[in-house]
Amino acid sequence: MIESTKCTICGTEDNEHYLTSSDRLSPNEKDNYNIVSCTDCGFLYTNPRPVNQSDFLAPFIEGGDAFNLLADPKSISDWIFKIFHPASVRWKRKTIDRLPTLGNLLDFGCRTGDFLFEMKRAKWEVMGIEADELGKDFAISHYGLNVVSSLEEIVERGEKFDVITMWHTLGRVPDLNFTLSSLKSVLSKNGFLLVALPNILSYDARKYKGDWIGLDLPRHLYHFDRSHLEKLAQNNGFRVVKQRNIFWDTLHNVFMSALRRARQHRWNAKWAINWPLLFWTLALSWITGSKLFLFGRKCDGSGILYYLTHENNN
Ligand SMILES: [Zn+2]
Repeated sequence: MIESTKCTICGTEDNEHYLTSSDRLSPNEKDNYNIVSCTDCGFLYTNPRPVNQSDFLAPFIEGGDAFNLLADPKSISDWIFKIFHPASVRWKRKTIDRLPTLGNLLDFGCRTGDFLFEMKRAKWEVMGIEADELGKDFAISHYGLNVVSSLEEIVERGEKFDVITMWHTLGRVPDLNFTLSSLKSVLSKNGFLLVALPNILSYDARKYKGDWIGLDLPRHLYHFDRSHLEKLAQNNGFRVVKQRNIFWDTLHNVFMSALRRARQHRWNAKWAINWPLLFWTLALSWITGSKLFLFGRKCDGSGILYYLTHENNN
């Protein structure tokens, strides 16, 4: 079942078609979805969208998560995951280590708990939210983590967190304003909310269009760039105090998008044509992102990590 929605940021119902792409996990990629652009503020969102998100999230956890893939990689993308995953978990821990705060941490959408376990070993008090039962049960039984199914359970406890992380999960929540205002209520006074998101205005996103892996339709309901994330944060009482490129995301997204484009063409001669495209996209994404980052200007990488605080924090 699908539903039509209006723009979450400005409330406008009018929109225009932006692009169409398929569900990369559906059989033969037959299921198509549209991304529309709000005619007023330009925010990009999936519309219409599936009512029951869990129908689409379940195979994602089952078929594509750490405990399956690290043990038994089968395809090229599995091997890429096996190589990238431990490095990306360590990168996340180092990112948290640099924050001027220490204490307890909440991971929203913790999946199988690999990152939380890494933080627990680094002496953080950790807690996770995972709606998928398979992922949640694994995090509890395998790592002994404290994981609940919903944000409401965390709010009811009344506990505050010094750091809250959302690693590519904000684009998947049906109600952005409810989620952000709830997270604000459980973020401690000087705490940080870290939000990692694919950047729909990055060089590789514009180059690969419907084949860009960061779209991940229909699991991603919203498709962010810097200005719209800042606006949404502001609407919910947050301030974006820092942004940085996630270099891993650029590498991963460019390679996986090239692979997907090649698959769409069934590995025929176009795959050969695709190699230069892969090379130049990777090089240009890296150069663009690094340069802007080096000169201290706002990022334009394939994935961006946003640091949010309460808006009245200095
Ligand atoms: Zn709008």
